[in-house]
Amino acid sequence: MTDARTNLLNLLDQAEALVTDWQITTKTIGQIINSYRDQLTNLVYDVFNGNSDPIDFRRAHKALLREDAPQAYIEGLREGGIDELDDDDKAAMDEKVNDWLSEQVTFVNDFAKAIGEARKDKTQRQAILDRVVLWVDSLRSLGELGRAYALGNVKADWQLGDRNTHTEDCIALSKRPAHRVSWWIERGHTPPIHLGCGCRLRNVKTNETIMGE
Ligand SMILES: [Zn+2]
Repeated sequence: MTDARTNLLNLLDQAEALVTDWQITTKTIGQIINSYRDQLTNLVYDVFNGNSDPIDFRRAHKALLREDAPQAYIEGLREGGIDELDDDDKAAMDEKVNDWLSEQVTFVNDFAKAIGEARKDKTQRQAILDRVVLWVDSLRSLGELGRAYALGNVKADWQLGDRNTHTEDCIALSKRPAHRVSWWIERGHTPPIHLGCGCRLRNVKTNETIMGE
């Protein structure tokens, strides 16, 4: 392979990665949910119409779950204020998404079987479509978990108040780097820490006061 061709392929790979990132970053929970609902509904109708069968459905539904679950969670994080995931965020996300997936996957076989039965018996089809709504609600709740996590993990730093009464403790705290709100609370570093302490915990991103004056 020539160097020029290698370079071109590398560039294409990079472009593809950029497009993939862009697609993830521009979706909202609502968009991912809608896309999941549409794709799942199409998969169901493919079985109803004889274009697919329950075995293919099962495979496709599992693939769809694996693809959309992390996206829904990441979007929830983003809506809650976390744009860049650190190692803690990633670990929490892996746990939540894997728990969710392993639970969901246990219902896929049964759903596929019911769809196969509804292919033969049209009176059962509405019940299947009602179940699609439940699947969609479940993905939405995973996205909400991400959002709730992010809101509880806002990064904050210690800002000295503009009074001249700070103790050494206040000054030491103000020199600490930003940490999650939960980090400050767990250590009891919550303003005010002495009489007349005008310090505050500040959301480093929005500059809003989370605690204190
Ligand atoms: Zn203070």
